[in-house]
Amino acid sequence: MLTGLNVAVIGGDARQLEVIRRLSEHDANLFLIGFDQLEHGYTGSVKINSHNISLEGMDAVILPVSGTGSEGQVEAVFSAEEIVLTREMVASTPEHCIFYSGMRTKYLEELMEKEKRKLVPILDRDDVAIYNSIPTVEGTIMLVIQHTDFTIHGSNIAVIGFGRTGMSVARTFAALGANVKVGARKQKDLARITEMGMKPFHLSELKDELSSIDICINTVPALVLSSDVLAAMPVHALIIDLASKPGGTDFHYAEKRGMKAILAPGLPGIVAPKTAGQILANALTILLTEQHQLERSMDNGSER
Ligand code: NAP
Repeated sequence: MLTGLNVAVIGGDARQLEVIRRLSEHDANLFLIGFDQLEHGYTGSVKINSHNISLEGMDAVILPVSGTGSEGQVEAVFSAEEIVLTREMVASTPEHCIFYSGMRTKYLEELMEKEKRKLVPILDRDDVAIYNSIPTVEGTIMLVIQHTDFTIHGSNIAVIGFGRTGMSVARTFAALGANVKVGARKQKDLARITEMGMKPFHLSELKDELSSIDICINTVPALVLSSDVLAAMPVHALIIDLASKPGGTDFHYAEKRGMKAILAPGLPGIVAPKTAGQILANALTILLTEQHQLERSMDNGSER
């Protein structure tokens, strides 16, 4: 249980409702900021006016999956007000306060460094990233179906990157009957791709390997689909770029060449907000319980 733990939840989308519901079940004291248009109430929660945000006394602050924008803006779909996480707000928290966000952003990292607060980007965790890959793959299948006039079965698909998302994407499209080849740079990944019955290639061979594909799904957060790689691809090839913004594709060149290239961030929150929210809620419950236990054992130690 999280009895006595003060947690501020700032902004977010439908996924955050699962987090709030779960933390409320665990008896945390919840302070909801950016939920003024939400009619539903949660036991043990208080809505805080977005104009008058105070984070004094908070043990933890939960930010949306996207973290913050470059100026500290916090996405809040249940509020019409603009919410900005300022340095003063962070400074007003107790020193032990931990900030949890989905992703790390430059703004957040710099702010936490300046104010000496701990930032936990929960999507960095392997368990969260692997669970999250499930709705991501389903969203990718949806996009491929929407943007092609041929079946996945029998099509030639290249998946770029073989991390937690790339592996799930590659395996699922192969199971749907596509001819899947996967680009990676580590020998162990090339070996695993072979073992899984797909065709491996090294990323240095990208240009040659993409010359006859129908669909390319990128998961590498670096410019891999550069203009010279795109120039070697068939014009009809569909590109779905899953990598976090700005993606790994030269979108400007793709458009100039008449290629369909889609940057598709945040698919779990779009196709399965409830499941995606439960994934975050599970991880946050574990992390907050650990934090709470640690704080209580330190309090007990100082009382002795
Ligand atoms: P990951 O496990 O870290 O995998 C990243 C992959 O990219 C690995 O194969 C890695 O290779 C490769 N890579 C990274 N930097 C590279 C570089 N400079 N050159 C070549 N290869 C490089 O990450 P993940 O969890 O799969 O996530 C991948 C991306 O998808 C992230 O940007 C993530 O934010 C995004 N994502 C998007 C969605 C969505 O809805 N669109 C959902 C989930 C994740 P090495 O192992 O050799 O470094």
